[in-house]
Amino acid sequence: MQRISHWVNNKVVVGTSGRTGKVFNPATGEQQAEVDLASVAEVDAVIAKSKAAFPEWRATGMSRRAEIMFRTRELLDANRKELATCLTLEHGKVPSDALGEIARGIENIEFACGIPALMKGGYSEQASGGVDVYSIRQPLGVVAGITPFNFPAMVPMWMFANAIMCGNTFILKPSEKDPSASMFIADLLRQAGLPDGVFNVLHGDKEAVDRLLVHPDIQSVSFVGSTPIAKYVYETGTKNGKRVQALGGAKNHMLVLPDADLDMAADAAVSAAYGSAGERCMAISVVLAVDTIADALIEKLKTRVPNIKVGPGTDPSAEMGPLISREHRDKVASYINNAAGEGATVVINGTDKAKDAGFFLNPSLIDNVKPGMKCYDEEIFGPVLTVMRVKSYAEGLKTINDNEFGNGTAIFTRDGGVARQFQYDVQVGMVGINVPIPVPVSYYSFGGWKASLFGDQHMYGPEGINFFTRGKVVTSRWPDPRTSAVDLGFPTNR
Ligand code: NAD
Repeated sequence: MQRISHWVNNKVVVGTSGRTGKVFNPATGEQQAEVDLASVAEVDAVIAKSKAAFPEWRATGMSRRAEIMFRTRELLDANRKELATCLTLEHGKVPSDALGEIARGIENIEFACGIPALMKGGYSEQASGGVDVYSIRQPLGVVAGITPFNFPAMVPMWMFANAIMCGNTFILKPSEKDPSASMFIADLLRQAGLPDGVFNVLHGDKEAVDRLLVHPDIQSVSFVGSTPIAKYVYETGTKNGKRVQALGGAKNHMLVLPDADLDMAADAAVSAAYGSAGERCMAISVVLAVDTIADALIEKLKTRVPNIKVGPGTDPSAEMGPLISREHRDKVASYINNAAGEGATVVINGTDKAKDAGFFLNPSLIDNVKPGMKCYDEEIFGPVLTVMRVKSYAEGLKTINDNEFGNGTAIFTRDGGVARQFQYDVQVGMVGINVPIPVPVSYYSFGGWKASLFGDQHMYGPEGINFFTRGKVVTSRWPDPRTSAVDLGFPTNR
């Protein structure tokens, strides 16, 4: 059985806790590896190595750091296929999805290459008589990233690229369900010339996370995962004096207005709902169809959904792979199986004829969904698209704003004025106008509102730089010592 161990000081370090987790191939349902789960002592040891590496890395010139990041980008580019295979084997993604994830991740590396230009502070000459004032940004120290199973390559890149370019040393605690991508990336960083201890990978579960959240040498925690754990990480981390950004779950609505091109809307809804088997925090989960076009839209969805080719990522024609685990597949199936009893209409039931081997589930379509039903109230995180019928734009907007999550949303319309009003009023962090998955490009920042984000800095982009640095303002003067005198008044500007 393959064993996946930690990555410390640019080397694989075999775990000593005696605890391991199982890593499955979701397409076959078979265990293919075991992953070491770190003990408190192992977490402490990695933090000590990261702390030891910090002073030298911080002192390394920004152009040298950028050179390493450029090389990392080139290595990632050259190894896209191998990394994609790694994602297919452990997560189950089909190649088009895996390669898309890697491409969007690489954008964050490219952004980070330009960070020296964005770390420039301000300078005010003669702020007062003979006094200059300037600002600088400095790294925090040892920072940690805790990531979910659904983007095992991209989400770590959201975090570490900015963190290490800003001069921090970084500890990644990836999902224990698909831990190999982080090891693959770690080795590319080594090949790119990253010094020992700047990027470490610590595999583990709650025990490792809990230690990272309280250890005094961890300065910040970046988290992406489900809402209950995001809230817990935020509360525990901040209580222990850390800076925390914790991104949680989602329930993303797509509002389709009567003037929208319905074929375009149906294509977009199907792509965004079932891509990656619905295991994306930006997946469209609910279509809000205005009554007058709801039947027509449902018909268009109904013709598209059965054409989705479900299969293992090793089959080049497959468009949608399996879910991450047997338990998760069964949980997703339970939402579909309970929907009719709650008063919804199951138009296409993906639990029928789902493959036995592997964690597959076919796409499902559920109509007449309403708040109060489990399939509406909870994040399903699977290949299930629900449709809620609304009387008007106003009712659609209110539905979105009443929802506890606020990660992504989309509006489909040809009316620019209404779209602009929607962008103004909607209580959601990332908005698409005729764009179903509005993941911001790397030079903006990613983050939801409400129960989709705990903390005040979004991830990557400019807010990522703020998060991984601390500001300092210097006030300086070089007066002639002969003019010096005692003055107990509060300094005022002259
Ligand atoms: P998860 O919350 O179960 O796990 C995320 C991380 O937390 C993992 O590294 C895991 O080891 C750790 N963890 C799990 N339980 C823990 C506990 N009790 N105490 C401490 N640490 C714990 O999430 P997941 O199932 O891996 O990922 C799917 C979820 O992530 C979905 O809810 C999805 O919406 C969300 N997600 C959000 C975003 C976003 O940007 N908002 C992006 C991707 C995924």
